This record gives sequence, C-alpha cells and structure tokens, in this order.
Amino acid sequence: MCGIVGYVGRRQAAPILLEGLSKLEYRGYDSAGICVNGDTPLQICKEKGRLRELVARTDNGAAVPGTVGIGHTRWATHGVPSDVNSHPILSDGGKIAVVHNGIIENEAKLRQILIGHGIHFQSQTDTEVVANLIAWYYDQCGDFLTAVRQTVGQITGSYALGILCRDYPDTMIAVKKDSPLIFGYGNGENFIASDVTAILKETRTVSYLDDGEMVMFRADSAAFFSPEGTPVEKKRETITWELAAAERGGYDHFMLKEIFEQPKALRDTIFPRIRDGQVVLDGVELTPEYLKSLRKIYLVACGSAYYVSMLAKYTIEKHCRIPSEAMMASEFRYCEPVLDGRDLVIIISQSGETADTLAALREAKRLGARTLAIVNVVGSAIAKAADSVIYTWAGPEIAVATTKAFSTQLAVVYLLTLHMGKALGTISDAEYASWISGLETLPDAVSGMLTDVHLQQIREFAARYSDRRDAFFIGRNLDSAICQEGSLKLKEVAYLHSEAYPAGELKHGPISLIEDGTMVVSVASGRKLFEKTLANIREVKARGADVLCVTLEDFAEEVAQQADGVITVPEVFPALQPSLTLIPLQLLSYYMACSRGCDVDKPRNLAKSVTVE
Ligand code: GLU
Repeated sequence: MCGIVGYVGRRQAAPILLEGLSKLEYRGYDSAGICVNGDTPLQICKEKGRLRELVARTDNGAAVPGTVGIGHTRWATHGVPSDVNSHPILSDGGKIAVVHNGIIENEAKLRQILIGHGIHFQSQTDTEVVANLIAWYYDQCGDFLTAVRQTVGQITGSYALGILCRDYPDTMIAVKKDSPLIFGYGNGENFIASDVTAILKETRTVSYLDDGEMVMFRADSAAFFSPEGTPVEKKRETITWELAAAERGGYDHFMLKEIFEQPKALRDTIFPRIRDGQVVLDGVELTPEYLKSLRKIYLVACGSAYYVSMLAKYTIEKHCRIPSEAMMASEFRYCEPVLDGRDLVIIISQSGETADTLAALREAKRLGARTLAIVNVVGSAIAKAADSVIYTWAGPEIAVATTKAFSTQLAVVYLLTLHMGKALGTISDAEYASWISGLETLPDAVSGMLTDVHLQQIREFAARYSDRRDAFFIGRNLDSAICQEGSLKLKEVAYLHSEAYPAGELKHGPISLIEDGTMVVSVASGRKLFEKTLANIREVKARGADVLCVTLEDFAEEVAQQADGVITVPEVFPALQPSLTLIPLQLLSYYMACSRGCDVDKPRNLAKSVTVE
C-alpha cells in the first residue's frame, strides 16, 4: 500500500527522493523516511506523520548529502505508525537498510529464529525481519546479491523491496512479489518506484518488474535477474502521459480535479473503441460461439469497482441474457465458487494490484475459467495475469476515493455489453445504434453536469446537512447500485455513517432507523420504477427525513413536492443513466467532506491501492 522510491546517480539523492515521495503519498501516509548512503553511511531521516514534516526537517533534502538513497511513505500493517516503525528499517548493527511495501507473512517464525541467533529487534514491523535476515546471510557469505537472494528464498507474502548495504555505497538491489515496482532509466542515473508518477519528472523510460524478478544497479548499469537467478533482458517502455496529469492544477483537491477529468477520461476510453458505428475491442476475442457456450459470468472486484460489478450484472443480464453475478473479491477467493471452462470471470481494478482481486483472478484461473480484466494501470499484475485486458484510459488517479476510474470502468462495461449483445443477437440493430450514439455523447452529457449552477446547488445542500450523523441512500435497479457507490464515497471522504438500500428493502428493516433529521439521498432515474421510488420517498418524509433526490428533468416537479432538494440529470439511453446520476453523488460527498473539514484526498485509515489482504 505504501510508496517506495530509490535513486542511484550523481546528483544529491535526498531532494529527488522527497519529490518522488510527494507523488506517492496517496498510497500511504502515516509516516515517511529516507536513507542515503553517502559520506555518512546509511544516514536515516524518518518520522511518524506527513511527508511535509520530513521535508521541513531536512530543508527539502538539502541537509542530507549523498547520491544513493531509498525513500518510503508508509501505510502500517505491522506495528503502529511511529518513528521507530517508519521505514527505512535498519538491520541490527546497521549494515543493511530496507524499504518495503507489503506484508511478510512468515515474519513471526523468522523473527524467532533470528532472535535465537542473538539478533536484536527495535521495531514491530515485519520489514525488520527482512533487513535482519539479509544482514545475517551477508555476514555468512559476504556477498550482497547472494544475501538478498537467500532472504527472498525464505520470506513469504508480498513485497517490493529497495535495499542498500553499507559496504556497497554505490549500489542498490530491488526485488518484488505481488507489490508493484518499476525501474526507471536515466542518463548516468537510475531509479526505482512503486509508481511511475514518482519518477516521471526524471525519466519516461521504464521497465516493469515481474514477480520474483530482482535488479542490482548502479548509476551506469543495471542487471536484472529472473526468480531463478538467471540474467534477463527487460523490455523498456515509454510513458506517454504528462506529469501534469498527476498534479493538482488549479483545483483544491485531486478528487475535484478528477471529477472534472471524467469527460476526457470517458472520451479516451470510449472513442477509440467505436469505429464506423461499431464497438471494437482489440485483443479481446469473444466470438458468438464462445458467448453462446457461456454458462455464467462472474464480476469480481473490491470497493467501488465492486459496485461497477453490480451495475454490470444488471446491464449484462438484461441486454445479453447471460446469467451474471457480482462478487466481492475478498469473498470470492475463499468461497469455493462453482467454476470451470464454461465460465467467464471479469476482474475489475483501478490499480491492477488490488491484493484480493489478484488472488481472485488466480483462483479463477486455477479452476479453469477464462479471465478478462478491466484495469487502469498498464503493466500491472492483474493486467499481466488475465487472459485478456481492456484498459480504462482514465490516466493516473491520485485521490484515494475513486471517481474517474469508476466512470471509465462503467464505460468499459457498456462497451463490453454492447459487443456481447450484438454477437449474441440479444441487442437489436436499432437499440445498438441508440447505445452507440448515447455513448458518443456521454462525455458531453457528463460535462453538462459539472456547471457552476450544479456545483453551487450541491455545495449548498452539503453545507446545510453537513452536521448530520447518518445518511441513507435509496434507489431501485441501476439506481440502487449507483446508490451503493454514493454511500461508500460519503463514508470514505466525509466520515459520515451511511447505508445504501434498494428502496424496496426499506420496509424490511432499515426504515426503523429513519427519524427527524435523518438524511436520505434518493436516486430515481428509471422511468419504469419512478412511481415506486417516489412512494418510498414519501414514506421516509413521513418519518422526518430530509430528502435529496437525483432524478430526470421530467420528474423534477413531482419530486419537488416531496423532497427537500432536487437535482436533475438529463435523460440518456437508459443503460447509460448511471454515468450521470453518479456525478451529483460524487460532488455531494466531496462538498460534505469539505464542509466537515475532512482531508479529502487522504482520508483517514485508507490508502489508494490496497496491495495487502
Ligand atoms: N508491512 C510493512 C509495515 O507495516 C510495510 C507496510 C507498507 O506497505 O507501507 O511497516
């Protein structure tokens, strides 16, 4: 979950490391630290708290000399956030320094063995086991690379590691398994990072390390090794997107910037895939014969992506008539699903590194199902492991709470449904043409939801109700699934207790919680079910709730007689409607978070890419 960065070159390392960490802080931010190998060997500056404190203490890195170093922003898994548990972690005796992203699963056993060898531990982290194990092997064999190799042979779990050794002042070793790590090539300098954003200012030429791969590098050279230890040539890739895409621009928060980037992200994801009025999904082979033979589609994901899966279940079942089921990856991986070659498993993840989702993908493959990934990060573990991939071209998403990745995942679901429905003959030509024109105008329709008038209206509502303790979201069918996402957003960024229920479920329990001043957000955009949802709005109003309703322009007048606030969305092709009802819900949680003084981009206890189970 954390961020790692490393530099070996001729320039002063500390400012480069701190600059890189500032781009990675969204991945974890309970503590930060750097270690530089210079005249003072393995000099460490680290502390609990935000990166800015470390930046101030080191005079933006200027106070730490040396041209080789590693840096880390932490999201603690073992041991509380504290100075001593912050990374980099030194081995007993101080010969080895390590930054680590992930979890060492057999740390307790290894710790006991090392204690048995007389080694002392300072921290509660699992990472210290790695530092001490490398140091212990190093003392036996006297060779840095061999010691790291032997250690990797002993540890289980997930890791991306950046490692320095006091006796090798110009060298770094990095290795990864189930946590992302990239290598960046500079001119007379080299880098490692958890994410390209950390080093994009310095280089655009990178290699993605595969699981088990290791790299030993200096300023002018880099040697890559396979998990078996044989030298490998890595393919060099060029990053094409601009650094500005990962910076805040004029916006107060990344979340707001990314909400505004949705029209572009939708254009980038949809337009290249519609050619001559037809959906074209390059590299994804779903023939009519294959689709007809399908028994079931599972849609597997975590968090917001799981709500995309719910929307996909409704959409695919309705339009393709293939039985579909949305499942949370953390459940799917352990529930012994009935799965074989007759089933398709669609995996959805922004980062492509989500630990539970990756494990679910592996389980699906083990059982013989075909897998298709919808992923935002090129070269990520899920993208590589799946049988085929459809990328969302959302660009880098920095805010912890997803917005544009969600929108583009949904866009891919539409494209996929259309493609499959056409192949199966379940979508008529006329319907197909309506979808396509709906998709082509969707980005503009989303832009239309981001006008000052809309923003002002939602900001006012958020300010008026920002003191509430509880919120309920209600809707039916697609509206119900989008309510789940709206509710999760509110929890994540505004720390408001919030629950989403299919509106028809209200009377089966949750209505007992509605009382004077309970906030209810209702989404009523489906024509068929509008009257039914309106009846539910009446029911909660009668029990004292304050209701905000997101609905179609046609229904605004009727709703206004019941609700305390009405936000209208333009009517589009029905299957695409969630892309529009989503926008006011995103803005509501954003403005609620602002009104409540929350740290919007870095909500407490959360991190962007959940690479641990
Ligand atoms: N497991 C390590 C720790 O708790 C690393 C966590 C991280 O990825 O930030 O310190």
